[in-house]
Order: sequence, then structure tokens, then C-alpha cells
Amino acid sequence: MRIVADTGRCIGAGMCVLALGEVFDQSEDDGTVVLLDPEPPASKAAEVRRAVQLCPSGALSLVEPPPG
Ligand code: SF4
Repeated sequence: MRIVADTGRCIGAGMCVLALGEVFDQSEDDGTVVLLDPEPPASKAAEVRRAVQLCPSGALSLVEPPPG
């Protein structure tokens, strides 16, 4: 999976960072999301999905690889 972050929508709430700090961080300038690992391994998929769902502004989305 690949994570896509729309920093224009991010309100810097930091929920994603709290949920999964290995993958998400926040910019020191404006607090918007920074992806530390935009293509996390499948072993982290469940945690990544949870973090994406927690985002209050809908700034995060997931792109799943095509089957096969
Ligand atoms: S949870 Fe959403 S709004 Fe908050 S920092 Fe992460 S991407 Fe931005």
C-alpha cells in the first residue's frame, strides 16, 4: 500500500502521529503531516488503516497496489 497525504487538508491535529509514529510525523514549520514511510510494509497495514481513519480532516488516503 501507498499512503497519500494532502497537506492542504491536514489541520495538524497529530492523530496519525499518535497512532503510528513510525510512519507519520509532523512538520516543524506548520505542523502538517510528514510521511516517514509512504510505502509501509504489509505487516503494518492494519495500523496504517487505523491511523488513516483517525485523521479528522480526511487528509490521508491509501492507494492499494493493483492485484497481481
Ligand atoms: S491526523 Fe490528519 S490532520 Fe492530523 S496531522 Fe495527521 S494528516 Fe494531519
